Amino acid sequence: MLFSEIGLGPEVLRAVEDAGYSQPTPIQEKAIPWVLQGRDVLGCAQTGTGKTASFTLPMIDILASGRARARMPRSLILEPTRELAAQVAENFEVYGKYNKLNMALLIGGESFGDQIKKLERGVDVLIATPGRMMDLFDRGNILLSDIKILVIDEADRMLDMGFIPDIERIVGLLPKIRQTLFFSATMPPEIRRLADAFLMNPREITV
Ligand code: AMP
Repeated sequence: MLFSEIGLGPEVLRAVEDAGYSQPTPIQEKAIPWVLQGRDVLGCAQTGTGKTASFTLPMIDILASGRARARMPRSLILEPTRELAAQVAENFEVYGKYNKLNMALLIGGESFGDQIKKLERGVDVLIATPGRMMDLFDRGNILLSDIKILVIDEADRMLDMGFIPDIERIVGLLPKIRQTLFFSATMPPEIRRLADAFLMNPREITV
């Protein structure tokens, strides 16, 4: 399959071409058309499979085509570590360079001030670690009532790091009607239980 046949819009396709990708990876080929249809995904995939683009590319496309004026965050990506969150943010900038979406990277170890300023200016996408995300929410700096797409990435690492209670709390704050994309390298019972609780009729993709 060619990227041009996968259903993505011209801006995202141009960014993919600039990145030098000739073909979608297996997880991209399976996930992207499904995500574009608004469906949930349960992806069993490791880093290195092209997993990040499998959710960021269609997300950018969906958000860009239905831009809200008020710029409340419409998408939330949760990552277990600052490094992973920063990497996804970098990817988001690369893939979204022709779509004028605003993104805030909410991670620990950096000043609250800059992150709050960014949120106040209005963003479309939040890329966050659970701890900083909850801190900002508890301080009243984040509105979650317009979130339409949730990504939980590296769920098994979230489990290892003790983040599951935070994740459950965050998901409880989000609108029930939303699209959820859930990725994990492994599927132990605890992760399967979370996936069952958070996803609706997901397509399961294993690569
Ligand atoms: P990820 O699994 O998301 O961490 O991606 C692993 C690496 O593969 C990243 O460096 C991406 O830039 C690269 N990549 C993602 N999709 C493709 C693709 N379709 N063709 C070639 N490289 C890709």
